[in-house]
Amino acid sequence: MGIQCTKCDNESIIYQKYSGMHLCKKHFVEDVERKIKLTIRKHYNINRNETIAIALSGGKDSTVLLYIINKIFGDRPDINLVAITIDEGIFDYRLDTIQKSKELTDNLGIKHVIRSFADEYGMTLDELTQKQRSYGACSYCGVLRKKLLNKTAKEKGATRLAIGHNLDDEAQTILLNHLKGDVSRLVRLDPPKKIEGLTLRIKPLRSIPEKEVALYAIVNELPMDFSECPYAHEAIRGEVRDMLNEFESKHPGTKHSLLSGFQKLVPILAKEYPPEENKLNECRVCGDLCTGSLCQACKLLGYE
Ligand code: SF4
Ligand code: ZN
Repeated sequence: MGIQCTKCDNESIIYQKYSGMHLCKKHFVEDVERKIKLTIRKHYNINRNETIAIALSGGKDSTVLLYIINKIFGDRPDINLVAITIDEGIFDYRLDTIQKSKELTDNLGIKHVIRSFADEYGMTLDELTQKQRSYGACSYCGVLRKKLLNKTAKEKGATRLAIGHNLDDEAQTILLNHLKGDVSRLVRLDPPKKIEGLTLRIKPLRSIPEKEVALYAIVNELPMDFSECPYAHEAIRGEVRDMLNEFESKHPGTKHSLLSGFQKLVPILAKEYPPEENKLNECRVCGDLCTGSLCQACKLLGYE
């Protein structure tokens, strides 16, 4: 037998360096679910009669997200769940993940809406990046996907939009915005109050390290696609990810500290950079709320 679980006699399947615990399958699953419930209770206060939209790409994070949200809220008659998948139009990649996402929503019996860049913007991501290349593919993808997710969530009457960002994603974004000196974006990452016209985003997985999300998916045998997007190597996020991973292995707990430090900073920063008073206007092309007269998505789509 290998190493024993810190909490029982079973064999451990993971060592959490940051907590010093070895956990068996049962106690690992319990640990992940307890932390996610705690995040939801502490930060997101879900009320009765809410509709939660879940952004589902078919990758491990959103798959685990949907599975756990369904486990927590699936039996509540007053809570509605709807999964939203965006097909950006990425050759040789997205169709497989969409297939996996369908499998999951069918298994769980959850409503599933699929929207595409091609229908919404008249172009797939591949076509768009071939046509114009002022920015990396991920900039187009991220901005346009967020816009379509918000729009679809609103159409479905969602009061929340759940996103599968894990601890690594959150720590990377926080550090990236620090490196860029973008303080107002830092506050918008975790707006303390609801912004009129936008569905409130929730990130229940934000305290779970990426590695543990993957392990949770594996031990629960969830259908998911492990392939990597062909554009992934373009993002500078990759450099920040490598740096943070190296730091985490030398100094366990770094990612958690980044997030908890950020959490303490947000209410203080929000006083100086109130997100809802960032003078939001309606975009003159699409009507979405934005800080200038043209939203980021319409700029990227080439409107002037
Ligand atoms: Fe989009 Fe970039 Fe993610 Fe690929 S890696 S799905 S292009 S954001
Ligand atoms: Zn616009």
